Amino acid sequence: MSTLFDLTGRLALVTGSSRGIGRSIAEGLADAGATLVLHGRDLDRLTETRAEFVERYGEERIHAVAFDITDEAAVDAGVNEIESRVGALDVLVNNAGIQHREPLVELAREDWDRVIATNLTSAFLVGRAVARHMLPRRAGKIINIASVQTDLARPTLSAYTSAKGGIRNLTRAMTAEWAGSNIQINAIAPGYIHTDMTQKLVDDAQFNSWILGRTPAARWGTPADLAGPAVWLASAGSDFVNGQVIFIDGGMTVVV
Ligand code: NDP
Repeated sequence: MSTLFDLTGRLALVTGSSRGIGRSIAEGLADAGATLVLHGRDLDRLTETRAEFVERYGEERIHAVAFDITDEAAVDAGVNEIESRVGALDVLVNNAGIQHREPLVELAREDWDRVIATNLTSAFLVGRAVARHMLPRRAGKIINIASVQTDLARPTLSAYTSAKGGIRNLTRAMTAEWAGSNIQINAIAPGYIHTDMTQKLVDDAQFNSWILGRTPAARWGTPADLAGPAVWLASAGSDFVNGQVIFIDGGMTVVV
């Protein structure tokens, strides 16, 4: 493999890597040589995922820390624990997120707040906690997970769309303040990817056929489709890529 994309010796935290897209990104980074800190909220699921990773990559390269990404004190404590117990973080992937579908006019304030907190405020909280360690070292990569909803609205997804639009500008805001300290911050915007979050949509024949027709690549994405772009943005191969949102969507956002 080209050394440009070699992550040997790099330490990466991927939030929400106990399953879904985060898990696949973590696998991609580990395949490229990185040491991983897996993360989630549900300790049983996280422990299970860690055991599967340990089997493939060995005990020394696989760690796991659980904390709620919406809880400021828990985030700071979790990141400090990683830095003191595991090592200096080179890569952060802000991936954990949730979905909530409801017409805007019926949406309760608490559901709006929960989606914004989990999908946007969390990236600020975890990003800030990690940057406080990366900035003095003058090195780091932060990858925020956006969505096609960063650019495109769709009925019933108002809070999610607002949060993911915010991720675009948070990526730019982080870049404005931290790129000069040799930290590259970019976002990956996945299209429709088959995971737990979208299982109901995959099972809905009408929605499924809309996705296949609406996506030039004529298929759902898989979590594995996100691994290559994540390795690139975590590696020296992207050292002059700053503040960008890279759409990995089978072409969905380039056609009407
Ligand atoms: P999943 O629902 O499959 O997994 C979500 C992950 O996030 C789990 O590991 C979960 O941990 C964790 N998580 C959720 N809330 C919290 C919290 N408060 N604190 C800590 N961890 C939390 O989601 P996907 O893999 O589908 O999505 C991952 C990211 O990709 C999200 O940001 C999503 O918006 C984005 N995305 C997904 C698309 C798709 O089509 N699936 C398309 C575009 C973007 P636990 O199990 O412990 O709760």
